[in-house]
Amino acid sequence: MASSRPRRDRRPAPVAVITGGGTGLGLAIAHRLQADGYDLVLASRDPAHLAAGAASLSHPRRRVRTVPTDVRSPEAVQALFREVDATFGRLDVLVGNAAGNFVCPAEDLTPNGWRAVVGIVLDGSFLCARYAFPLLRRRGGSIVHIVASYGWTAGPGTVHSAAAKAGVIALTRTLAVEWAAHGIRVNAVAPGPVRTEGTDRQLWTDAGLVRSIIEGIPLGRFGTPEEIAEAVAFLVGPGSAYITGAVLPVDGGQWLGHGPMDLLKRPRRRGSAEPVVRPPRRRT
Ligand code: NAP
Repeated sequence: MASSRPRRDRRPAPVAVITGGGTGLGLAIAHRLQADGYDLVLASRDPAHLAAGAASLSHPRRRVRTVPTDVRSPEAVQALFREVDATFGRLDVLVGNAAGNFVCPAEDLTPNGWRAVVGIVLDGSFLCARYAFPLLRRRGGSIVHIVASYGWTAGPGTVHSAAAKAGVIALTRTLAVEWAAHGIRVNAVAPGPVRTEGTDRQLWTDAGLVRSIIEGIPLGRFGTPEEIAEAVAFLVGPGSAYITGAVLPVDGGQWLGHGPMDLLKRPRRRGSAEPVVRPPRRRT
């Protein structure tokens, strides 16, 4: 999966839309695809995230556009792809990466909490694929969804995200079959735990939890954003031309039988949803 050099010819560059492309894994994917010669469109809600992400992507010959978009809104997603068409006149790659998540036992999850995550992850992935389709089918192209292995194992502590990712995996496989005839490949990457600003704030909030997660990963560490981006670059590149409907785990082997990553595995106060963070025990 060697990085190809930035394009030096005058042919128009291929274009990739990355949802949630201003932060975390989405931004690492943007850097990787830019290095492969793509012009980029970063789409998410917060203009500050988009501006910071775009500012870090300073390649002299590659264009980067930002389009504030809430992927839950069909109108906003349609407007995004209208703008892509007006600006570039083509679309080659869609990376469906936007997501929201937080830790909550299923019995405490509110209908609004459920809807928020399922709305971003499942509805958002469908809407983006749906409205990218007319552009992608013009010359053929590729979609990669960023999912998670708990979409087919189990996601204790994040039932909303697990259910939504399972839906995105079904979406990926179904679209792979339906759209193959249009020259559109549809695959997914399932990252294991990766530290980003977002996940440090929402998920990896406890040192004991981080240690126990690492113990369940055969390769013995968290992944890096660049390792996830490398897998995406492969799945949209010519080396994977015969791959569609695949879900590629990039997780150090975490999903292979070490049990689900239990984000609720912390001592809790009786009658409270709040975890109690205890200092590590001293060895005597
Ligand atoms: P992150 O930095 O929090 O990324 C989430 C992105 O989604 C943000 O850029 C956010 O931007 C965007 N977003 C949220 N709601 C949106 C909405 N309604 N419309 C449009 N964009 C929205 O976290 P990350 O770790 O990089 O996650 C990236 C992807 O990897 C996600 O699909 C996540 O499920 C997956 N993943 C991550 C890990 C990990 O350990 N990091 C593991 C497995 C899977 P705005 O706030 O600007 O909207």
